[in-house]
Amino acid sequence: MLKVDVITLFPEMIENAVSYGVLGQALKSDRLAVATHSPREFAADRHKTVDDRPFGGGDGMIMLAETLEKTIQKVKHKNSKVIYMSPQGEVLTDEKARVLAKEEHLVLICGRYGGIDQRIINSYVDEEISIGDYVLSGGELGALVVVDALSRFIPGVLGHNESSDKDSFSEGSGGLLEHPNFTRPREFLGMAVPEVLLGGNHKLIGEWKDKVSALVTLVKRPDLFQAYLEKENEQYRLLKKKKKEAPLKELKKFWMNLSEQERQSLGLAALSEEDFNG
Ligand code: SAM
Repeated sequence: MLKVDVITLFPEMIENAVSYGVLGQALKSDRLAVATHSPREFAADRHKTVDDRPFGGGDGMIMLAETLEKTIQKVKHKNSKVIYMSPQGEVLTDEKARVLAKEEHLVLICGRYGGIDQRIINSYVDEEISIGDYVLSGGELGALVVVDALSRFIPGVLGHNESSDKDSFSEGSGGLLEHPNFTRPREFLGMAVPEVLLGGNHKLIGEWKDKVSALVTLVKRPDLFQAYLEKENEQYRLLKKKKKEAPLKELKKFWMNLSEQERQSLGLAALSEEDFNG
């Protein structure tokens, strides 16, 4: 069981959000536990003060070190990893979420206002994590993103039918984006579901989906596609698969064999021959 303690001035934000969907089920199944703790609990004065003006001036209030320290000390033990949600941290990735899911205990500190006293970061924080290069008004949304993303990697949280193995970015997908998905009806707004998906040949469907994933990644995330292609090329060289075509050439051939209608349905209409020039 992974235990997550979230330190926040707005506990309801966390408590409400984690009660839905996959996260809500994970909490009920005892594979994940999320609790909240407010520094206000440790504020000694009548006004329950948890922030003050920054020394040296500047915009915004800063969360006080002492009330934060007491809150951290309440929850932290020797196996805890203390994380400060911060725009200055390492940006969260799928891989990072996977690693965090293996921890025993996470303490997520959510800042507010202008942030928290640096001495808390120096003395208690093991890592700073950001959810992207923009500034939020508080760490709660970031903490929720972290908890949601990692929960998918806790064994048993996702049912077999919704496994994360082939999701975008996963090892199982080769680091690619997932292929497009379709459900009923077979035709919608003049776009038909690609024929192969209706045929029931699961081996063929699997191979087809892998190729389409690569094409979708080429269109949407050329950076990820390049990394994937380098790995594929390396393997191709090592295995000296002389009969098999080079990965990019093979993918181009697959794309050329797709009908205009299929390209349209798959959202690949913008792809052109030039995109396969390496
Ligand atoms: N003054 C800080 C700075 O410029 O680095 C930003 C403070 S921000 C207004 C308030 C709090 O929101 C931060 O203490 C942090 O906990 C959270 N936060 C803001 N942006 C974030 C991001 N991209 N990822 C994670 N947490 C973030």
